[in-house]
Amino acid sequence: MSDYHDFDHFGLDPRIVAAVKAMGYATPTPIQSKAIPLVMAGRDVMGAAQTGTGKTAGFALPIIDRLLPQASASMSPARHPVRALILAPTRELAEQVAENVKMYISGTPLRCATVYGGVDMDPQTQALRNGVEIIVATPGRLLDHLGSKNTSLSQVQMVVLDEADRMLDMGFLPDISRILNQLPKERQSLMFSATFSEEIKKLAANFLRDPVLVEVARRNATADNVQQELYRVHESEKTAALLSLLHDRELKQVLVFVNTKIGCRRLARELQKHAINADAIHGDKSQDERMKALEGFKQGTIDVLVATDVAARGLDIVELPAVINYDVPYAPEDYVHRIGRTARAGLSGLAITIATGSEDRAVAGIERLIKRTIEPKPIELRRPPRGERPGRSREREREAPRERQASAPAAPRPAAAPAVAADDFFNKPYEPSSAGVEPATTEDEVPAVGGKSPAKVATLLGGGKR
Ligand code: AMP
Repeated sequence: MSDYHDFDHFGLDPRIVAAVKAMGYATPTPIQSKAIPLVMAGRDVMGAAQTGTGKTAGFALPIIDRLLPQASASMSPARHPVRALILAPTRELAEQVAENVKMYISGTPLRCATVYGGVDMDPQTQALRNGVEIIVATPGRLLDHLGSKNTSLSQVQMVVLDEADRMLDMGFLPDISRILNQLPKERQSLMFSATFSEEIKKLAANFLRDPVLVEVARRNATADNVQQELYRVHESEKTAALLSLLHDRELKQVLVFVNTKIGCRRLARELQKHAINADAIHGDKSQDERMKALEGFKQGTIDVLVATDVAARGLDIVELPAVINYDVPYAPEDYVHRIGRTARAGLSGLAITIATGSEDRAVAGIERLIKRTIEPKPIELRRPPRGERPGRSREREREAPRERQASAPAAPRPAAAPAVAADDFFNKPYEPSSAGVEPATTEDEVPAVGGKSPAKVATLLGGGKR
């Protein structure tokens, strides 16, 4: 596969090239270099790419290019049927993808609408009824609009499942299945995932046709340019350790991960008490509050954003220098996602994990997944912890079991997947697994599945290939 050193040589429509240059992209990232020609050629693609690799432009630019010959300047909604659908797991990711798409199509008559839950449906309904070629959506709200006949997917030519692993983790498979059933069989399909579980492989086998695997980092590997550090402390020292690290390393614009919503709130408050500009972003916050916190973080008015995995999913913060795991994630895959927030688009970054003895097993799981040992480093605690640390309150103790239950995978996840190149799973027919897909596992954004028990991928996708 040849490498492209600038955006002029793909043969993309000049309006797209101009938009990309206006955004300051000079050189295609590796995934763009590989994926753009394949998608332009009409191939199905399985992208093994972490966030921050530039994957959005990798799929969006060639999709836009393929849509342009049919683009119409007419005002009539009928002249703007939905031709491309991009599904994303969270509102934030949908917003960010759509933001980028809107920039890329700014010099063309194409239209793009964003559809996600937690906000008023009316403006979305209006946008859909006016006609749009590209929809970027989270699955649940899109189904609401389809149910209300606000839009139709009958003319979709291209579909993207972005962050497919996270969509499965969040229990979106039934919704995705319902949506896919409304698409024409003849279409181009793209799927992106940072990690590769058996379920992802099965979804790929059902969803994609003769796909080309495009990858830019080892499967389940962490970005090489992320410096990973581990500090082992006593339970009661966690906050002091965090404060020391923030202070000694002069860290600004740090994303701090915790495992529970209540831990998130409490840690942000604790940091504020220590005169740190901190805010919290978690599933109980409204969309407006989350966007405001994110904006403050991007602008630099908030130095430390404390986040749960779900809330942070898809956050696009360029040049984020550091992430800190205040809690070790329950699922090793979440570690990969978390540290993917730093060292984006080729920059180097720092990923710090603060672990207590009770988190040893979780750390070992991560090391197995990334096939690397993270040697613990000594830490000098500058201040004694002020009062109760956020994670040890009675309130948290009460909430923890429920949240853990909601967050922890039902069964141990598979360790690192085998090497990628030799993996021919795309060519194999679907084989039903005895293991059901895990139910919704995260602290919010759980789609309404009517309390159904987790169903198998095969059943949900109609049991076979298209
Ligand atoms: P993504 O992995 O798609 O979320 O992209 C990560 C970030 O990199 C986004 O802020 C993009 O706007 C930016 N980006 C994508 N492609 C390029 C490029 N070729 N050059 C510079 N920045 C890029």
